[in-house]
Amino acid sequence: MSWKDSIDPKLLAIVAQVDQKIAPRLAALDDQILDNQAKVLHAFQDHRVSEAHLNGTTGYGNYDEGRDTLEAIYADVLGGEAALVRPQFVSGTHAIGTALLGLTRPGDEILYITGEPYDTLQEVLGMSGNGIGSAKEYGIAANYVPLQDNGEVDFPAVKAALTDKTKLVVIQRSCGYATRKSFTIAKIKEMVDFVRGLKPDVWIFADNAYGEFSETLEPLDVGVDIMAGSLIKNGGGGLAKTGGYVVGRKDLVERVSYRFTVPGIGGEEGATYGYLLDMFEGFFVAPQTVGNAIKGAIFEAALLAELGLSVSPEWQEPRTDLIQTVNFGNKADMVKFAKAIQQSSPVDSYVEPIPEQMAGYEDEVIMAAGTFISGSTIEFSGDGPIRPPYTLYLQGGLTYAHIKLGIIQAAESTFYQH
Ligand SMILES: *Cc1c(COP(=O)(O)O)cnc(C)c1O
Repeated sequence: MSWKDSIDPKLLAIVAQVDQKIAPRLAALDDQILDNQAKVLHAFQDHRVSEAHLNGTTGYGNYDEGRDTLEAIYADVLGGEAALVRPQFVSGTHAIGTALLGLTRPGDEILYITGEPYDTLQEVLGMSGNGIGSAKEYGIAANYVPLQDNGEVDFPAVKAALTDKTKLVVIQRSCGYATRKSFTIAKIKEMVDFVRGLKPDVWIFADNAYGEFSETLEPLDVGVDIMAGSLIKNGGGGLAKTGGYVVGRKDLVERVSYRFTVPGIGGEEGATYGYLLDMFEGFFVAPQTVGNAIKGAIFEAALLAELGLSVSPEWQEPRTDLIQTVNFGNKADMVKFAKAIQQSSPVDSYVEPIPEQMAGYEDEVIMAAGTFISGSTIEFSGDGPIRPPYTLYLQGGLTYAHIKLGIIQAAESTFYQH
């Protein structure tokens, strides 16, 4: 009995065509994986990682050489001077929000130039939610420049929005739950050059969620000052159990560290007991894990487009993150596909995901994630807010084979019932 026995032969024939079509794209990704793997390997060697670094500390976590070494590696690989890489960051939102709030003071303005901020960050900024503890409550203004209809940054509007008060310009690399394309490193460079040309001293921050190792350069390599992300997305390589990171200019990372803990202590404390081995090993395998996930996204794009769905990016387009969006146009199909994704998972495959209200999100959200690490989106998962155009955001997958099996089975159960 083969897994193929339960798949419609017509679907298998389409899969075979898709495999042929995308083969050169997948081969090109192998080169990128190699480049990123070399960068990470050399950083481990340069920083003389040893077994003692993997153990972690207890209590205050003073003089944690493993943690300091991991942070130096993150800084080197991702193009910064210093980093905070901590299990005490509860999520990417926490790391990003800590940076936004740590870098600004009452009277300052935070300006997003890539359209509406990601849902959870809107609450941090005070654009939605109850406002308690938000940037707005502290007298820090937060605004965003809407994107043009074609999804590109509106440069004249950015120019008009920059003021004496603008302290921090924010670029969100990945699309989040918006219907736009993610911004490639080449596009981020254009944004940085434009903003610097107008206001050389402004600090530029990048929300790098889902971006790490998706290309061979990172936002810091093209002039961004500081960036942050989650360890249960790309950087954790599927092995980190929790955490987030902030990396960038040393003076700015220090400011963020005082918001992360308290003034005076900053990044000097923070025990890592039990976490470091996974964080080191996860970062080491992340280039390969991310590469496989992107290969899977290319397969998803090619197969689902072949089945008549509208997808973004399309299979042949450049990629700068893990996200593959699929528009279903109606709630029923979106939910059905999400359920099929859940059924193809190694954990909780028998569980039925249902749309629900979630902390930090305004609309109901459906999340299919039968993952080893709760909520991890470097693992094969699909989610999205229940609102038109009913877009499911697919991402992750620890192995290419799993993504491929999962998508074929989801396509079978959604579009090929016998
Ligand atoms: C996932 C994500 C975040 C937040 O990360 P969490 O770890 O889920 O809190 C921030 N910005 C973007 C664009 C994201 O995709």
